[in-house]
Amino acid sequence: MTTRRNKRANDPDTHRVAVIGAGYVGLPTAATLAHFGHHVVLAERDVERLAALRSGRMPIVEAGLDELVAEGVGTGALRFSASSTEAVVGADFVFLCVPTPQGDDGSADLSYVEAAAKEIGALLEPGTIVVNKSTVPVGSATFVERIIGRPDVRVVSNPEFLREGSAVRDSLHPDRLVVGAADAHAAAMVGGLFASTGAPLIVTDATTSETIKYASNAFLATKLSYVNAVAGLCEELGADVRDVMLGLGYDKRIGFDFLRPGPGWGGSCLPKDTRALLHIAQEAGYDFSLLAGAIASNEQQLARVVAKVEAACGGSVEGATVGVWGLTFKANTDDRRDSPSLQVAHRLADLGARVQAFDPTVTADGGDEAASGPDDLRGLLLCTDPYEAATGAAAVAVLTEWDEFRWLDFSRVHSVMAKPAIVDARNLLDPAATRRLGFSYAGIGRR
Ligand code: NAD
Repeated sequence: MTTRRNKRANDPDTHRVAVIGAGYVGLPTAATLAHFGHHVVLAERDVERLAALRSGRMPIVEAGLDELVAEGVGTGALRFSASSTEAVVGADFVFLCVPTPQGDDGSADLSYVEAAAKEIGALLEPGTIVVNKSTVPVGSATFVERIIGRPDVRVVSNPEFLREGSAVRDSLHPDRLVVGAADAHAAAMVGGLFASTGAPLIVTDATTSETIKYASNAFLATKLSYVNAVAGLCEELGADVRDVMLGLGYDKRIGFDFLRPGPGWGGSCLPKDTRALLHIAQEAGYDFSLLAGAIASNEQQLARVVAKVEAACGGSVEGATVGVWGLTFKANTDDRRDSPSLQVAHRLADLGARVQAFDPTVTADGGDEAASGPDDLRGLLLCTDPYEAATGAAAVAVLTEWDEFRWLDFSRVHSVMAKPAIVDARNLLDPAATRRLGFSYAGIGRR
């Protein structure tokens, strides 16, 4: 963490900042702003999340977050509050980091943003800048302005691009900052909060800023759909997708990021943001068939992975035990929202498999069906380790790319399985080494 600026309270570059929502975005944002020397109050209305923070526990899994938060709490730059109304009093800037889930028609549900704006509107100091960090549809800055209803308060769009799993690094060292507002001075002020990052700053209007966020996530999703489709083609041709992607990735115009095939893309952002952008395009009368194709292709990918597991089990999973390794949408996070791994696991259970699942971030009693606890785990038998998940299984599906799965004792895995078959939906394992141990192996886009 080399960007630290030691500031005094009367430093003109030191600001009082309120952050609303201590989730995957709000928590790293608040801790980063405190690290940069600002005085931050982070408001969280979820009682458990807040209690965890107050007792020094992180409510989410994110590398380096505990240290950054502890640093802010230790210097007094970061404080927590149970209410947005308390947090915004005296603030120069208020960051909205609340959820914008997918609505029934695919559009973004703005009810959390609306509620937060209503809560704080009357309490803001004249001149306060409200910053929309939540991912919101085009026109939302004006929408928030209207809800706040204060001519002396400005609303600025500042979309967030951090990746779960590297949120701290991404917050401290963003690739770029995008700030959009009708008032260019207000936009520049928001950019100034992050000046010590040295990241390129794009100052634009709010409509463009809001479009950048959706266009960015839709591009990443489309890139992944493309990679998964190429992997499918490789299987037909007998080509090796890993070498194909190496050949593509060294081309600087393409790059290596988001070039690994998998069970389909998911997570809390890409599915909802691609659908929201498609909805925005439809409303605007633009035929974005490319994006519709990327979404349809992702559905096919999930189905393809399920079919691979069925094939590994001899054509059907009905009545079979299937081991599942990994439930989070990617490694190094505990986030299961819209996880493709979880979707594959549930589809297998719906097809009649007894699904024994292990994920390093899911606590389990051992082989117990998650009858209580989080809804998204219902119907799965949660295991305490990957060996237990493999026990008696006709196939093991590697669904999330947790590094620890590469270093297991595969002789032991072989010995506990009913039939030694592995479907590696993340191309995590070495096919030759796995086969040498006596497993049948099916990866994605490679033999
Ligand atoms: P999250 O669900 O993890 O966190 C949101 C938090 O806000 C929750 O803890 C909730 O209790 C709290 N909250 C809601 N309303 C509140 C209120 N009125 N007062 C106080 N607290 C309130 O969500 P997230 O993943 O951090 O996403 C937030 C936004 O950022 C979304 O728009 C999302 O699309 C966007 N985004 C997310 C990511 C990501 O990787 N998760 C990346 C970029 C952008």
